[in-house]
Amino acid sequence: TVKDEELFGLPAEELLYRLYHEEVVEVFEPQTVSFFCGCSPERSGAALLLIPETEIDEILDEHKGSIDMQCECCGTHYFFNKEAINKLKQAQ
Ligand SMILES: [Zn+2]
Repeated sequence: TVKDEELFGLPAEELLYRLYHEEVVEVFEPQTVSFFCGCSPERSGAALLLIPETEIDEILDEHKGSIDMQCECCGTHYFFNKEAINKLKQAQ
C-alpha cells in the first residue's frame, strides 16, 4: 500500500498507519541513543592477570615492554608495562 517514493516522502506515523493499520501501532517518544561501555583500566588489568606470568613476559618482550589491551566493545586501548602489571598483582 506504499509506493517507493512515498516510503521516503511520507511522515513516519502516516507510513506506519498505511503499512500496519490492521495492528495496534504505538509510537514512542523519541529517545536519545547513547553508547556507554563499561570498560576501565581496572577491568582490563584484571583480565590481563588471568594470563600466566610467563606468557605476559613473552608479550612484554615482543611489544617493547608494553601490553596493549584493547576493549572489544568500544576499541579503547589500555597499556600496561611491567611496572603497572606488578602494581596490579600487588593490589589483588
Ligand atoms: Zn570499552
